[in-house]
This record gives sequence, C-alpha cells and structure tokens, in this order.
Amino acid sequence: MTAQIINGRAIRDEILAGLKQDIEELKQQGVQPGLAVVLVGDDPASKQYVGMKAKKSKEIGMYSEVHTLPSTTSQDELLALIDKLNNAHNVHGILVQLPLPAHIEEKAVIDAIRVEKDVDGFHPVSVGNMMIGDDCLLPCTPAGIIELIKRTGTDIAGKHAVVVGRSNIVGKPVALLLLRENATVSVCHSKTANMKEITRQADILVVAAGRPGLIPGDYVKPGAVVIDVGTPVGDVQYEEAAAVAGAITPVPGGVGPMTIAMLMSNTVKAARQMLANG
Ligand code: NAP
Repeated sequence: MTAQIINGRAIRDEILAGLKQDIEELKQQGVQPGLAVVLVGDDPASKQYVGMKAKKSKEIGMYSEVHTLPSTTSQDELLALIDKLNNAHNVHGILVQLPLPAHIEEKAVIDAIRVEKDVDGFHPVSVGNMMIGDDCLLPCTPAGIIELIKRTGTDIAGKHAVVVGRSNIVGKPVALLLLRENATVSVCHSKTANMKEITRQADILVVAAGRPGLIPGDYVKPGAVVIDVGTPVGDVQYEEAAAVAGAITPVPGGVGPMTIAMLMSNTVKAARQMLANG
C-alpha cells in the first residue's frame, strides 16, 4: 500500500484563503479581527514563530501587533500588558509565546488572559469548556490534527484512535477531541506496557511523544491514518510507516502548518463572537 500523504501546507493555505474572505466580510461590518502576540526574551525559535504568526495574520487582512519584551521583564510588567490587551477593542486574540523566562510563572500569565481572547486555548476555563463539550476556542495544534484527519475523508466516529503522549498541550486535548468526535480512544505514554500491541489496533494513530523515530512501521495497522506531531524530527519512521499506512503526515509540512491556520481561525472566531455579543 502507498499511503496518501497529508499535505498540511496545502490544507493550511486553503483554510487561510477561506479566512481571508471571512475577514473581508467582518471588515464590512466594521470589525477587523486583531491578534496580539507577546514575546518575552530573545529565543531564536520563538522569535521565528512569532514572526511567522504576524506575517500570516497580515497576509490575510488581520490587524496584528507584536510586543517584544526583554528577558528581564517582570511578571507584573507582563501582567500589566495582558490587562491592557484584554481591554483593547482592536485586539480579539492574545497569544503569549511559550516558554517564558524561568522567573515568570506561566500559569499566572495564561490565567490572566481574558477567556474570550484565549486563542491558544490554554486557559483553564477554555480547557474545561472543551472537556464538557461546550463551544470554545480550541487549542491550535490538537484542533489542527482533527482537521487533518477529517480532510483525509476519514469518518472518525467508531474508529479506534490511539494517541501516544499525554501532555497538556497535545496528547490530552487531542484524545479529548477524538472522543468528542466519537472515536474509541486509547492513550499511551512512557509507562505503557506493550505499546506495539496497542498502536497496531489504531485506525487513527496520533504520535506526540517528542521521541524521534519512536514508531517503526510494524507498530502501524495496515491502512491506518498516521499523524506525526513530533518536531523538528518526526516521532514516526516515515518511510516504513508510509509503506503500511493509508494516510500519513510528513515532518515537516504536516501538523506544523496547521497550528498557525487554527490560530488565525480562532482569532476570526473570537472577533465574530465579540461582534455578536456587542
Ligand atoms: P511532552 O510534553 O514532552 O510530552 C511527551 C509525551 O510523550 C509524554 O506524555 C510522555 O509520557 C510521552 N512519551 C515520551 N516518551 C515516550 C515513549 N518512549 N513511549 C510512549 N510515550 C512516551 O511533549 P509535547 O509538548 O506534547 O510535544 C510532543 C512533540 O510534539 C514534540 O516533538 C513537540 O516538538 C511536538 N509539537 C509540535 C507542535 C506543532 O507541530 N505545531 C506543537 C506542539 C508540540 P509521560 O507523560 O509518561 O512522560
């Protein structure tokens, strides 16, 4: 079997093209969706992510502002900026690039973001709403993974989905979203015994372990949809798995581009909701 290669870049571009139209329509109603990205410190990878987010938001007609703060910024100074952005009428989404310098408590910063503007979906209230199935801003990478699976034409309902990894930012939320889509879900982690026996039962296999090459081809069920979240090197042994799978994401060019698409989508959704609520 030759697997269908799931092209995350092409899907991202389709989503962004749709959002560009949505933004045009919102502008005609007097609202330009706005995203504020906050970067503390000068980590090169974070700088690159922030630059990409700002560039893409401008390309689709969004209002964008980037706040670059020195690594010596105090927690109170950062919280004061969040408070300002929470009250800014032209900002509908706030994203604080993680990780933050060690002297700043990440949780305090995430908790301070107004839930309606929590486009990263990390606020405890957003997580709770996702858990109980209420409409909310979903975390970007997990939401992007669900979108990729759907775009293969796979009906998730009734499938056995196996998630490798249980982090708060990828593994757990993706497992929850798969459950919401009516999959039967198993979650594997570093203490899981006989992982191969479990992954081989997966109609949908999502791997988010951050362990390059963890999943060889014989861990994959023939015909499965395989989503490799690992970066910068994939967690799945691509060539071997692609020979067995029905569909598979490459690294790079699979899940990564979807995170930005979902961030933009959340910002447009937040703007639309704020418009509706006056
Ligand atoms: P993380 O917080 O380090 O969590 C890794 C998870 O994998 C943990 O739950 C861990 O189990 C599990 N694990 C580690 N080794 C394992 C093994 N040998 N067998 C089974 N499970 C194992 O990582 P993360 O933040 O979720 O990120 C995972 C990967 O996704 C990384 O490569 C990261 O760079 C990538 N990522 C990509 C994007 C994107 O493309 N946009 C976004 C986010 C993350 P325990 O809980 O038992 O320790």
